[in-house]
Amino acid sequence: MLNVAIIGAGPYGLSAAAHLRKLGISFRIFGRPMDSWLKHMPQGMMLKSDGFASNIYDPDGTFALESFCKQSGIKYGHTGVPVRLETFTAYGLAFSQRMVPELEDNFVVSVGRTADGFVLGLDSGETVAARRVVLAVGITHFAHVPRSLASLPHELLSHSFNHRDLERFRGHKVIVIGGGASAIDLAGLLRDQNAEVQLVARRKELNFHSAPSGKPRSRWQQIRHPQSGLGPGLRSRFFANSPGAFYYLPERLRLEAVRRTLGPSGGWFVKEKVIGRVPLLLGYGVEHAEAGDNGVHLSLRDADGNRREISAEHAIAATGYKVNLDRLTFLNPAIRSAIKAVENTPILSSTFETSVPGLYFIGVAAANSFGPVMRFAFGAGFAARTVTQALTKVFAAGRASMAVASAVGVVK
Ligand SMILES: Cc1cc2nc3c(=O)[nH]c(=O)nc-3n(C[C@H](O)[C@H](O)[C@H](O)COP(=O)(O)OP(=O)(O)OC[C@H]3O[C@@H](n4cnc5c(N)ncnc54)[C@H](O)[C@@H]3O)c2cc1C
Repeated sequence: MLNVAIIGAGPYGLSAAAHLRKLGISFRIFGRPMDSWLKHMPQGMMLKSDGFASNIYDPDGTFALESFCKQSGIKYGHTGVPVRLETFTAYGLAFSQRMVPELEDNFVVSVGRTADGFVLGLDSGETVAARRVVLAVGITHFAHVPRSLASLPHELLSHSFNHRDLERFRGHKVIVIGGGASAIDLAGLLRDQNAEVQLVARRKELNFHSAPSGKPRSRWQQIRHPQSGLGPGLRSRFFANSPGAFYYLPERLRLEAVRRTLGPSGGWFVKEKVIGRVPLLLGYGVEHAEAGDNGVHLSLRDADGNRREISAEHAIAATGYKVNLDRLTFLNPAIRSAIKAVENTPILSSTFETSVPGLYFIGVAAANSFGPVMRFAFGAGFAARTVTQALTKVFAAGRASMAVASAVGVVK
């Protein structure tokens, strides 16, 4: 029987697979390589994370984004040079070919339990038995649409997850709802397509990362606002570099930190694409949405009770992602209900294991346990190391007890 099945082939699944490969543990990995980046983010987008924080991890650190860019003749900087979506996607695909050639481009349609592990059903019709399962399904199942918009039909409302190619909106009237990076990016890119776009957000102001000054940072600045994979600052540094310590904070503090840290903000390089180019309706929430004769009609309201009515041919909810175990319908209901959860997210051991023995979650679903870094590629190194070291111990212990059993058998 297979030792480990990894479900998901984004930065987390690929990092975990590269580590298992080196450790010599038998595994199979299923998923569409870099699917979230390849199909579910808008063409022309740039990553918010710096170059040094946009890696996929192999155990020897031999194939970082920097090496890929050098080999491909792409401009790279640890900081200050935004990483293009196309670059990161090409890097991820190159990583999977070089470091995880066994990747199988299959979707897992069911996961059930057996006496000694799990059985996976693939979309190809094959079934696979595995002792352990690592779920690295990222944002795939968690697109969040606020209740006030949920009743609109698909032709009038979509989630930002559905948009890669924005060409279809050229010359059309579109409303983007949301105040975070996805919404800001989309609004700017739609404007580039000559869409008549407006942005509606509950926030009274849009936030953007500060642009790098280009000057060397003083010693004091480096101490007070140290650089980190999640941006500058002591808190960000702690969240980025110490997910193992974050894990031991009281649950209430962890949940609060994940909720509040790294709130919605756009990259510094997007500001000029949006400010002064895209009409902004800030401070407004959507109170009511309905289908009209020529598209979608939204009733907005601000905190003081002021109302606005707006219409467009289409609305895009760039309203983020919310982990919810109930959405993972490919997991057998008995497994889903056996996973202990808080706020519908799995409660994990210090090695990413759920309360269902042998079932692990890495990536955004692990954020309430290991902190905000799990929402970013930067956390994939820690997650891959921790989960694969734990699996190594499990299988080493298994081998030792088999050896003892057979030795005892021999003595008898
Ligand atoms: C617009 C946007 C911009 C972002 N910008 C950044 C950024 O600049 N830097 C950053 O670090 N992060 C960014 N993120 C966050 C990003 O989503 C995560 O960093 C990253 O994708 C996490 O990797 P992952 O492997 O956990 O998940 P994903 O990349 O989401 O990969 C999930 C994988 O699981 C597979 N999968 C899901 N279900 C199944 C199934 N049933 N069977 C088989 N396979 C399955 C998918 O096909 C895919 O291969 C951004 C997110 C968005 C939406």
